[in-house]
This record gives sequence, C-alpha cells and structure tokens, in this order.
Amino acid sequence: MSGTRQRCATCGHELAETDAQVRCPACQGLLEILHARPAVTGAALRARFDGRRVPPRGAGGGAQESGVWRFLEAVLPTAASEIVSYPEGNTPLLERPTLGRWTGLPRLLLKHEGLNPTGSFKDRGMTVAVTQARRVGARALACASTGNTGASLAAYASLAGLPALVIVPQGQVALGKLTQTIAYGARTLLVRGNFDACLDLAEQARERLELYLLNSINPFRIEGQKTIVFELLQQLDWAAPDWIVLPAGNLGNTAAFGKALAEARDWGLIADTPRLAAVQAAGAAPFAASFQEGFARRHRVEPRTVASAINIGNPASYERAVRAIRETNGVVTTVTDEEILEAKAVVDGAGVGCEPASAASVAGARRLLRDGVIGREQRVVAVLTGHLLKDPESVTRYHQQTDPRPPHANPPVEIGPTLGELERELRSRDAR
Ligand SMILES: *Cc1c(COP(=O)(O)O)cnc(C)c1O
Ligand SMILES: [Zn+2]
Repeated sequence: MSGTRQRCATCGHELAETDAQVRCPACQGLLEILHARPAVTGAALRARFDGRRVPPRGAGGGAQESGVWRFLEAVLPTAASEIVSYPEGNTPLLERPTLGRWTGLPRLLLKHEGLNPTGSFKDRGMTVAVTQARRVGARALACASTGNTGASLAAYASLAGLPALVIVPQGQVALGKLTQTIAYGARTLLVRGNFDACLDLAEQARERLELYLLNSINPFRIEGQKTIVFELLQQLDWAAPDWIVLPAGNLGNTAAFGKALAEARDWGLIADTPRLAAVQAAGAAPFAASFQEGFARRHRVEPRTVASAINIGNPASYERAVRAIRETNGVVTTVTDEEILEAKAVVDGAGVGCEPASAASVAGARRLLRDGVIGREQRVVAVLTGHLLKDPESVTRYHQQTDPRPPHANPPVEIGPTLGELERELRSRDAR
C-alpha cells in the first residue's frame, strides 16, 4: 500500500485514493492528496531524486525520463506499468541578461514550462491525472479549458487510448491551442459563453454522462504541477530562491506551488521557504482584489484580458490558493495588458519566447521591484507557463500596430524582388 489518500480541504472528509469523484461528496469542497511521509527524507530524499536525473537511454521515452515521475513519492506512488507519460518536464532554468536589465532584477531566472511536450505546464498535471483516470477505470475524459488544458488532455488521452471531450469558450481560445486540441483528436465543443460557463457545463456533464473530469479542481493535476517547484529547486541544488513568481488564473498552479513548498519544507528538501508572488491581469483580477482586503471575501468579476490563459473571473481553486499565499508569506499583484505585452516582446526578443499569460510573471516581477516588495539583489524565479507559438495572433497584432507604435515593435516589411528595394528598405530603417 502506498499510503496515499484524498481528503476534502474544506471539511476533512476522507476518500480512498482510487475514488474518482472530483469534489467532496459531503460538502462539495475541493479534494487534496495526502501522501505517506517518504521512508527517507532530507539529504537522503534529495539524493534519491537527484539519482533519477539520468540522461535518456535509447528509445522509448516514458516515465523514467520524466521530470514529473522522478518525484514519484511526492506525486503519486504507483507502479511504472500504470504511468501514462510522454515524457514531460525537464524544462530549463534560464538566465538572460536582457531580462535582468528590463526588470531591474539582475539575478532573475526563467523556468520555461512552455518547453513541455504540448507547450505548457499543463502536461505535468495531465500525466498524473490521466494516469489516475486509467487506474480508476475511467472510460471517457473531459475538461473545460481556456486552451492549454484542452490541448494537453487531447494529447494524453490519445497516449492512454481514451476518448476526450474538450469544452472551450468560442472565440476566446488562442489559435495554437485550438489547433492542437483538434489535431490530437479530442471532440471539441465551442461554447457560446466564457470559461467560467464552460467549467460549470463540464461539471454538470461529468455527473450526467460519467466522464472523468481533468480540470485543475482534479487534485491529481495539482500533484503533477507541484513538480515545477521540485524541479526548479533541484536545478538550484536545493538552495531556495527568495521568490517564485507565476501568472494566476484559475489558481490551480498557485495552489500546487504552495503545496509543493509545504511538503519540501516538511520533508527536509529545503531549509528556507521562497515567497510566492501570484500575478493577475488587471482586467481579470478577483484574487488580487481579495488579497487587497486581507482575503476577507471572495470576488467574482467579468474577465477581460489579452492573456487568454488567465482570462478567468471566478477562480475554482480560490481557497487553496489563499492558503498558498498565506503559508509562504506571499503576495498577489496585477499588471496591465500593456505591461504584459511589453514583457512578452522582451521575452520573445531575448530569443526565449512565451505566450501572453506567461509574460505576466515577468511583468509582475518588474512591478514588485518598483513597488519595493522584491529587492534588487534577490534571487527571483519567474515561471513562463506557455510557448510562444500558442498565440501567434497576439504577436502579429503587437508588432503590426501603428497608432501608437508599441515600444518593441518589429513589423515585417513587404518589398519587390530587387536589390535596390532591399537596400532602400535597410537604409530607411537605419534612419528611423
Ligand atoms: C493554465 C495557464 C495559466 C494559469 O494557471 P492557473 O492554474 O489557471 O492559475 C497561466 N498560463 C498558462 C500558459 C496556462 O496555460
Ligand atoms: Zn468536504
């Protein structure tokens, strides 16, 4: 027996590890996974995790090359034969002087989760939750999505040989994400409504149609997403940074980061706890509004931001994210769409690249330095959550805008096929 169980975070009701309900049957609260304390902790557990950082051997891929399943004891202790893995994770931790200068934080590092197999951190949660879906004998999988969850589910359902239903808000999903969902073979429904309406619908359909739900209210998604934190700590030789900054939408990732840090501390993996900074878009900032009031009450807004992955007005993981911010002495801040797009242009221009929502973390780090919350010499890790190619339209729109011309615009220019025209264009650009 692995000793893993599920517990309601609201009322404490406990469920078996293999119970497929995604909410507490007693009070409808969200569930969390509890692990047995690993047989070894501290330096011995660090050594065990480090020993699994093996270079890929031959063909096959799968769990032993995964940056998620390396942390098996902290994710889902299960037999290797049950695991559905691409593999995923093993994303780089990047240092780029351009970004150090732009943010004013010379020690800034970027954890690039856009380099996961389907281009976002959602793969880390999906490998675990789809593994669990198979363990509980699920026959069909479903999710509501702003795009990346659907793209990831579509791929992992295909890996697992299970049908998938993806419910997205019509006209609000970035092109790359919708393209992936269709291409990987999920049944895709475009709902005339926003993401919050899609999530309501997915929960209703789950009950009626006996679908296994893979939104981030699914606690096994949270377990997988914790490995972003474990992996970045490991990359820093378990020396905790001062801050971890991430974009915040439905707040599943904020909750996952809080749980990862609590466990890393309890199990002796780290001595100091980094502070979490959750960054919302100003037009979709219900969590920031609650933070301003000391979390006195929950807010709900009509969301509106270019960063579609965080365009969420009623975040599902509110309560567990509050705990994550409180327990890490964290903060919640906002950035405007203008700041997000400028940060994105700088990240892209540095040759790194990310989607708009991801740039909120870099814009947020810069804002928190200006607000005097983060210190100039502090070690900050900003998480880039998704890949540049997820949202090509946002790139074209930014670089081709003329009135006013954005600060880092780099519009392409059309010319005739002559050297004269080419030279004239290069000269005119130098003169600008
Ligand atoms: C899902 C997602 C987010 C938001 O994460 P939450 O867990 O919903 O807060 C941010 N950026 C990208 C690229 C995402 O796909
Ligand atoms: Zn409960």
